[in-house]
Amino acid sequence: MTSLVDVYARSGDVTSAEKLFDRMPERNLVSLTAMITCYTRHGKVDKARKLFDEMPERDVVCWNAMINGYAQNRRPEEALLLFRQMMLETGNRPNEVTILSVLSACGQLGALESGRWLHNFIGNNAIKINRVVGTALIDMYSRCGSLEDASLVFERMKDKDVVAWNSMIAGYAMHGFSQISLDMFDKMCTEGVVPNNITFIAILNGCGHTGLVKQGWDLFNTMQKKYGIEPKVEHYGCMVNLLGRAGHLEEAYELVKSMKIEPDNVIWGTLLGSCSLHGNLKLGEEIVELLVNIGSANSGTYALLSNMCAASGNWVEVARLRSLMKSSGVTKEKGCSSIVVNNTVHEFVAGDVAHPKSREVYQMLEAMNNWLAEKGYVAKIDTVLHDLEDEEKEQSLEVHSERLALAFGLLNTKLGATIRIVKNLRVCADCHVVMKLISRITGRKIVMRDRSRFHHFVDGLCSCGDYW
Ligand code: ZN
Ligand code: ZN
Repeated sequence: MTSLVDVYARSGDVTSAEKLFDRMPERNLVSLTAMITCYTRHGKVDKARKLFDEMPERDVVCWNAMINGYAQNRRPEEALLLFRQMMLETGNRPNEVTILSVLSACGQLGALESGRWLHNFIGNNAIKINRVVGTALIDMYSRCGSLEDASLVFERMKDKDVVAWNSMIAGYAMHGFSQISLDMFDKMCTEGVVPNNITFIAILNGCGHTGLVKQGWDLFNTMQKKYGIEPKVEHYGCMVNLLGRAGHLEEAYELVKSMKIEPDNVIWGTLLGSCSLHGNLKLGEEIVELLVNIGSANSGTYALLSNMCAASGNWVEVARLRSLMKSSGVTKEKGCSSIVVNNTVHEFVAGDVAHPKSREVYQMLEAMNNWLAEKGYVAKIDTVLHDLEDEEKEQSLEVHSERLALAFGLLNTKLGATIRIVKNLRVCADCHVVMKLISRITGRKIVMRDRSRFHHFVDGLCSCGDYW
């Protein structure tokens, strides 16, 4: 019967699995674990946790099921907490499966210290750094902002497969080191490893971060002609981003129209964002009209168009779009930034006052504003147009979530320590300027992961070269 629960779980039939499970005369470790896996695989993490908590005894497989459930469902904080509980309270030793889940959680959170600790743990407990663990380490380190550590792991890995290469190439690309990722790609091919479609997503993404249009086209063609890989929607997305950001708007639009598959909302949003960035109202309007006609307009669409109108001084149109947006009930995703201090994740949303240390954070913000004013900094509202989502435009700029996280970081980390922030949306142009200035004023390195890439702020400059 236990294996039947498993069969239902795999087929996605949670209800049948649940019914069968409820009828079982005797629940044991195996059937309970199967049910936990079933729940988490279908997003019912809290139900799984309830079962987990009720278990009289647990083995490592069961702990793994629950920890992995959290990690897979993008609840990395709980994955880490549960892992710590496992280490502290039980005699169960983590194995490779545990390590992989926890590494993934660390990467999601940008929790570098926990990741390093885990890396040490692997070393001290004779867990082999095989391809899978090695690749997970590379992913973790680059997602936590430490390419140095990622490449150390990569260099030490023996017989690297395409997955390992992809992780390293994606790491460099994500951090804006496009040339290095291109060199890595060449090296990989020279060593006889055949690139797959993921390789091209990673590397095209990298080209987009620095505007390498020619290289991008070359790769896009090579991918199809030399390796016979049909472009997926993600590849098109990378190309549209690359072309659009670099100002080749018509070329980007032509590419979208020539697609053999249906363009998704991400692609349209990217193209529209580029029109906004380069102030091409005419093409922007044409696209919005098309999106409205096919019923694909969303909050981003309206926000971008309203930005464009604002930029050209068409305030009547701006007002019309605002009300249209409100009446169609589109909601905006709220900006949220997190920072890990002493193994605890602290989250801030824009204008947050819920954090227990809010008072200190706002005092620090005020101090930061004074430093900035001394350097002659003035907030530029119009630069917010750069923001793809524009979700926070109506919020006062000083309380964007990344600034709250930064203030908290300055208060609660050692003098001179690197500050690491993870944001769910793209960083806005104004906060980008502030981060640069604060890095110079305080002598701190600030590493920030936003929705699309990494920014390393050092001594008043950003690794993205202000191209993002
Ligand atoms: Zn901002
Ligand atoms: Zn930057």
